[in-house]
Amino acid sequence: MTRSPSPQPGIMEIKLYQGGASRVEGRDQVIKLSSNENPFGPSKAAQAAFAETAATLHRYPATDHADLRAAIGAVRGLDPDRIICGAGSDEIIAFLCQCYAGPGCEVIITEHGFSMYRISALAAGATPVEVAERERVVDVGAILAAVTERTRLVFIANPANPTGTMLPNVELERLADGLPPECLLVLDGAYAEFAAGYDGGAALVEARDNVVMTRTFSKLYGLGGLRIGWGYAPRVIIDVLNRVRGPFNLSATQLATAEAAVRDEAYAAWYIGENARLRAWLTGALRDLGLGCDDSHANFVLARFASEKEANANEARLRGEGILVRKVAGYNLPNCLRITVGDAPDCRRVVAVIGAGREAAA
Ligand SMILES: *Cc1c(COP(=O)(O)O)cnc(C)c1O
Repeated sequence: MTRSPSPQPGIMEIKLYQGGASRVEGRDQVIKLSSNENPFGPSKAAQAAFAETAATLHRYPATDHADLRAAIGAVRGLDPDRIICGAGSDEIIAFLCQCYAGPGCEVIITEHGFSMYRISALAAGATPVEVAERERVVDVGAILAAVTERTRLVFIANPANPTGTMLPNVELERLADGLPPECLLVLDGAYAEFAAGYDGGAALVEARDNVVMTRTFSKLYGLGGLRIGWGYAPRVIIDVLNRVRGPFNLSATQLATAEAAVRDEAYAAWYIGENARLRAWLTGALRDLGLGCDDSHANFVLARFASEKEANANEARLRGEGILVRKVAGYNLPNCLRITVGDAPDCRRVVAVIGAGREAAA
C-alpha cells in the first residue's frame, strides 16, 4: 500500500489568485491600471518613515501594534482596542475564516465578490455559498434567503470590487439585522475612503455584536507592496482573532510606514479629491463612447462592452499600447474590463485607445 501526504479537504478546490498583470512583452514602460493602486504612490512622509527603519532592523517589531492602532484610532475616531492589524486585509479575512468557519460551515459570498473570500473559506475547510447579485449590486434579500443554520460568515465589499457599486447604510443595517446572531457580517472597506460620506461600516460595528469591518493601506495610501491592513470589530472578536495572529505578523517597517501614512491626512485627502474628479471624467468619457459604466464609488471603473469578444479585443488593444487593465471573466463579468483610475494623462490615453478601436470597428 502506498501512502502519501494529502492536503486537508477543500485545499485542492482553491484556484490560485490571479493578480493584475504588470508587464507587457517588449516594453519597459507600462501604464498599470490593473490592480487599483494609487497612481501617485505613497506619500513622502510614508516613504521617509520607511527609509528610517533601515538602521534598526535588527530589532524585533512590536507584537501589539499599539502605536499604529493608536494612530488609526486618533485619525479615524475609533477605539484602538477594537482594532487588529495584519499583513494586508487579506490576512484579516483569513483570520476570520480560520476562527469562525470550518468543516460543515457555510460562508456566503456574492456573484461578483472579491476572490479572497472563497479562497480563505476553502482554506479553513468551510463551504463557500455563492449568492446572485442584481445588476452588479449586492442583493441583501438574496443573501438573507441563502442563510442556513450552518452559515457562519457573510462577506461583502462596500464599495464592491470589481463592480464599484455600493449599498446604502439602510441596506447594510437590514442585512445585519436579518442575520442570525451566530452569523458574522464582514464589511470589506478596502475602497471605503473613496465613497463620499461613508464610514466603512464603523458605526455599524460599534452598534452590533456581529459586524466586522476590514480596511487596507493598499489602495488609498498606495502601500500595496508593503502589505498592511486592519480590522475593526467588537472586543470579544478582536480577542479571538489575536489568538491566531502571529506575534510578529507585521514588520517594524510595515508598522512605521503605515503610521506615517495614516497621519498624513493632507495627502490622503488630496488623492481622494483627484480620484473623484478623474473617476467622474473617465465614467463620462466611457459612456460617451457608448459603453455601459455604473457609477463607481471606488478608485476604478467597470466598463461594459457588448460581448466578451469585444472586451477581450479592447484589453488586447490597450495592452498593445502598453496599458494594462483587468479582465474580470473570473468574477462572472466576461464582457467587462476593470480600469483603475490613473492620473489625468493615463485616463485620457485609455479613452483615446478604446475610442480609436470603436471608430475603426464602426
Ligand atoms: C484590494 C482589496 C483588498 C485589499 O487587500 P490587501 O490584502 O489589504 O492588499 C481587500 N478587499 C478588496 C475587495 C480589495 O479589492
